[in-house]
Amino acid sequence: MQYISDPCLISAEYARNDLEHEIDAYKNRRMTGDLYRRSLVGPVFYLIASGLTIWLSDFYQGRVWLLCSIGLAFLWLGWRRYQHLPPPPRSGSLQYLRWNKQQWRLIHLGTLIWSGLATMTGALEMHANNAVIVTVITTIAFSTAASHGFSMHPRQAMICLIEFTAPQTLVYIFYAVDLRSIGLTMCIYFGYLMMNLHSNAKEYKKQIETEVRLIQSRAELAQLSLTDALTGLPNRRSYEAAWNQIWRIAARKNEVLGLLIIDLDYFKKINDKYGHNAGDDCLKHFAKILRHHIRRESDVMARIGGEEFVVILPGTTSELAYAIGENLRRDLFASPCQVETQKIQITASIGVGVADWAKDKIPADTFHRVDLACYQAKTQGRNFVVRA
Ligand code: GH3
Ligand code: MG
Ligand code: MG
Repeated sequence: MQYISDPCLISAEYARNDLEHEIDAYKNRRMTGDLYRRSLVGPVFYLIASGLTIWLSDFYQGRVWLLCSIGLAFLWLGWRRYQHLPPPPRSGSLQYLRWNKQQWRLIHLGTLIWSGLATMTGALEMHANNAVIVTVITTIAFSTAASHGFSMHPRQAMICLIEFTAPQTLVYIFYAVDLRSIGLTMCIYFGYLMMNLHSNAKEYKKQIETEVRLIQSRAELAQLSLTDALTGLPNRRSYEAAWNQIWRIAARKNEVLGLLIIDLDYFKKINDKYGHNAGDDCLKHFAKILRHHIRRESDVMARIGGEEFVVILPGTTSELAYAIGENLRRDLFASPCQVETQKIQITASIGVGVADWAKDKIPADTFHRVDLACYQAKTQGRNFVVRA
């Protein structure tokens, strides 16, 4: 049995799996996209900050080789990050996982190069001169940016914060004692950033969850718009999309394609005699029997009108379609619908046919021939199966 999602046909189970896949893919895309964008400009700021530090430092002055090698390192890093594009939209989770790992390697590399330069500056200068002040301020700026920007992966972001601040503060506190008060202040700020990161990560997760709920509601709405509320079967809109698609595919491949059109007999009388609610119960009862008979994955059944149903049977010959229709008619006749204390006898007139590729030019041609057969079943006295 198939539920249809315009324009392709998908079963309910498949639709559920498909939705789960879509949600996973969305999360992967969203998080990798954010990580890519937010880590793109880092090397530019590293480059500016290290240039300033080297220029202002008493110790590094004249060491052009240092400026060049750090500059080149950040330029290379910037180029690598720019080139390391997130996987294409339809990639699997493994590809995203690999991409993230590599991206985090590049991020940690930048953090460590910067942290190395900043720590070394403090250890060599030993007091709060301009170069040290630049390293302190930029380290604070970089770690603040990391705690905000990398909230999608809080553990990795935490490692980044440690890489940024730990070497510098340890050197300031235990080695360059003139910088101890700065080191201690940085420690306090590090604590604040950790808490900040925690709440940012929660906020990010909530945002993604809201977006996922939106995707789910959209999918549910799409499914509802294709489903008949009373019987839970695909509705007319659903059937039309399926019939057109299946018919055209079968026509192109010149494959056999069966169709059943089922109209319940004297349904108006059932409503008049037992009431509309009992009539509804009868429709549900019929849908249950129909589901029981039509079990092949590729078959499509739908409620296309009040008491009218269709079954599309790809790859089914006229004989087989007739047998299916006859079994269904017999089973329905033998299983009255129990409504409270009453048993309501329901019968159906069924038209059966297969697409005639020599005569049928459009899907409606096949439908009309089978509909005519259904009408003949009515005129023959109802509770009949007639072949087109
Ligand atoms: P025939 O044997 O010629 O098909 O007679 P019929 O009474 O079944 O056909 P007709 O087309 O005259 O009437 C169909 C009836 O189906 C009319 C309507 O009251 C009933 N019906 C349509 N939709 C629903 C529904 O959702 N619930 C209920 N209870 N009845 C419905
Ligand atoms: Mg009717
Ligand atoms: Mg009827």
